[in-house]
Amino acid sequence: MEQPIVFFGPGPSKIPDQVLERVQAELLNYAGTGVSVMEISHRSAEFQQIISGTETRLRRLLHIPDNYRVLFVQGGATGQFAAVPLNLCVNGKADYFITGTWSKKAAAEAARYLDMQPVLPATEKFLGIAGRDQWRLRPDADYVYYCDNETVEGVEFQEVPDTGDVPLVADMSSNILTRPIDVSKFGVIFAGAQKNMGPAGLTIVIVREDLLGRGLPVCPSVLSYSTMAKAGSLYNTPPCFNVYVTGKVLDWVEEQGGVEEMSKRSDTKAKLIYTAADQSDGFYVAPVDGAARSRTTVQLRISAGAELEKKFLKEAEEVGFKSLKGHRSVGGLRVALFNALTVPQIEKLVKFLGQFATQNR
Ligand code: PMP
Repeated sequence: MEQPIVFFGPGPSKIPDQVLERVQAELLNYAGTGVSVMEISHRSAEFQQIISGTETRLRRLLHIPDNYRVLFVQGGATGQFAAVPLNLCVNGKADYFITGTWSKKAAAEAARYLDMQPVLPATEKFLGIAGRDQWRLRPDADYVYYCDNETVEGVEFQEVPDTGDVPLVADMSSNILTRPIDVSKFGVIFAGAQKNMGPAGLTIVIVREDLLGRGLPVCPSVLSYSTMAKAGSLYNTPPCFNVYVTGKVLDWVEEQGGVEEMSKRSDTKAKLIYTAADQSDGFYVAPVDGAARSRTTVQLRISAGAELEKKFLKEAEEVGFKSLKGHRSVGGLRVALFNALTVPQIEKLVKFLGQFATQNR
């Protein structure tokens, strides 16, 4: 009998089947237009409804205050690594929390445009977040940047860092919509869509209005928050289909009970995995410090080594658990627990973890 697939892709990631089915049903003829949603003009009334509907849902789900603009842009989260300094540079300095692969990359990109200073002491291994007494924050920095969840290392902030009056910028690519956030604490939040919101190719930026209109004159128009805000994200052709699918995913999140429900499920799923590792008598190890353990991308190792991890991945695949391999830079296993993964699926994985440990001790 063919095994049902449980797909743990870390990005692009699982999109709920109900959403894919709805997209499929409308694919050849969108809303009676006789053409596909991929084909209609981005300036048509139909698309205007799609983009404003997607924004309205996101505003509802994250309780985004009125003094924030929502932008739909391209270039990935990586594009934002450049867009952030280009749009926010005034005094020419910014402070970066470097807690893993993605914030390290963002900091290197920012250093091309301004004086970038790391907030935390340098480290080779990203397995936690140094305590407040070790933070170096400059009161005259243009902004403070952090990555709320480091997807590769599985390091997540449990609280929004307090940066006083200095605007805070957050990369939430791998945990947006998995817990409630107080948007008013942020200057800018951005996230690539491909983990919890839809297909790759769309990036969402939430920016506080008073931060528009600053930055470096060389900022390319396509990366400019003010240009995009003025044009309602239609300065150039947006990734129309992706905005449409994202709208459907947001519908689904609302139907499921919203971000509050996603948060409960994320906590439950993560706890299941960490408990299984912590109670495996050292067979599995979750190396990240307890206070920084990610609820959405769990890093796991099999302490006996890489050979056994290879065997694990092969056997997991045979029973339908796909894409559990850790990022190539850190190895091991990674369990990406994004919103489309259900609690029963994770319970099934935990059972498999237990069986594999018993058979391979
Ligand atoms: N930030 C985080 C937290 C990510 O997980 C990723 C991609 N996995 C990126 C940035 C880069 O995103 P993109 O590939 O969309 O540029």
